[in-house]
Amino acid sequence: MSTTTAIFGSYVLAERQGEPEMLRDQWLLIEGNRIVALQDRRPQADRVLDEPGRLVLPGLLNLHNHCCAEAFSRSRTEDLPMASGDDLLRVLGPISGTGSELLKSLSRPQRLDIARLGVLQLLKGGTTTVMEPFRNWFPEMFDAAAEMGIRFYGAPYLFSKDPAGNEIGASCLEAWDELFETWHQAADGRIRVVMSPHGSDTCDRDLLLAATRRAREVETQITLHLAQSEGEVATVSNREGGKTPIEFLDSLGMLGPDLLAAHCILASDDDLRTMAATGSTIVNCPRTYARAGVTAAFSRFREHGVRTLVGTDGYNMDLISELGAAALISKCRDGRADVATSRDLIAAVTREAANAVSRPDLGRIAIGATADLTVLSLESPFLRPLQDPVKAVVALGCRADVDIVMVDGEIVVQHGDYTRSNETEIVERGTAALDMIMNSAPFQSILPAH
Ligand SMILES: [Zn+2]
Repeated sequence: MSTTTAIFGSYVLAERQGEPEMLRDQWLLIEGNRIVALQDRRPQADRVLDEPGRLVLPGLLNLHNHCCAEAFSRSRTEDLPMASGDDLLRVLGPISGTGSELLKSLSRPQRLDIARLGVLQLLKGGTTTVMEPFRNWFPEMFDAAAEMGIRFYGAPYLFSKDPAGNEIGASCLEAWDELFETWHQAADGRIRVVMSPHGSDTCDRDLLLAATRRAREVETQITLHLAQSEGEVATVSNREGGKTPIEFLDSLGMLGPDLLAAHCILASDDDLRTMAATGSTIVNCPRTYARAGVTAAFSRFREHGVRTLVGTDGYNMDLISELGAAALISKCRDGRADVATSRDLIAAVTREAANAVSRPDLGRIAIGATADLTVLSLESPFLRPLQDPVKAVVALGCRADVDIVMVDGEIVVQHGDYTRSNETEIVERGTAALDMIMNSAPFQSILPAH
């Protein structure tokens, strides 16, 4: 007999007849990893979580994130003199060039420590599912995800060439196959392996075609960076007879409901119409660009009918306040308040995101759904008086409001603390491993001036 858990929500964002509906004073009953009841009577359960002022949301899905890049860019990449968003890519150079060599030189346990610190921040911030593209020589991301309890769509990168210009497309695909073999559906299906060509410029036509073929053969999603920089647009245009990155992918037959493209900030209106017509998904990561003064507006993608999600990319893994940023940046761009609404944005990290990875059992609270939940405490003085809890989360909330996180029926965060292992130890060890790199002379020498 599996364990049962009852959680009381003063507010529960449930799904009724396929539509989200905010219910008051409800009990959720979870048996094993399923939601089995939603009722106003207190049920019998092995464990009862009954505190006032909780808002129970479906588990949040953050479908574009980079734990490692985030650790390097925080409080380093802000306030730099930048001419364009492309400069952001240059300031991340430390983790792709010399910095990447330094990361490789760490021991496996040290890399695992770095991965654990990232996953800890995601979970404590209320993310139950992450899609994480990362370098294929950093497989410790999978180990950390399996061990720590997050739902993980790991996306080991493919590149056509290494920094020295050597062809590595075939070996990247081989490495991907090995990781797929080892990790896909591991940890009771919590771990998935997603195809991840890095971008339309860093992967050539043959590699993109081979990757797409392979992904569709094994029925996994494809994710990549798309129309994210002027450099990418120029490279693809020169190489592919004037095509935009999205026209190029369309010509390869890559666009479709199984494709999740991050950014698309340089997509034309025609490009966006193509994305919508093919059922492709855009993951909007507004803050990573806003940091450099570049507008990446959720509303622009939505108004073209593209399924649009919100992710945190390699900057500040607070998905809840990313929603607030998405709202404000969209409203400023459009000069009106009724775009990128709180309801649209919550849907973008719950139902819509679950649909983008073909998981109708996730991203919603309904009988029979998988028990992934993000529970916020609304007791904070900063949220009082509480009027509309959904607006409050997006406009006023942040990851500090996260109280309980349940993944696959297991409580991994309670009262804001991680439950599976010692949080302080994870923080100290992860920080020590990162400090070894950041304090090293080669790393210091490649940092941008500030
Ligand atoms: Zn990215």
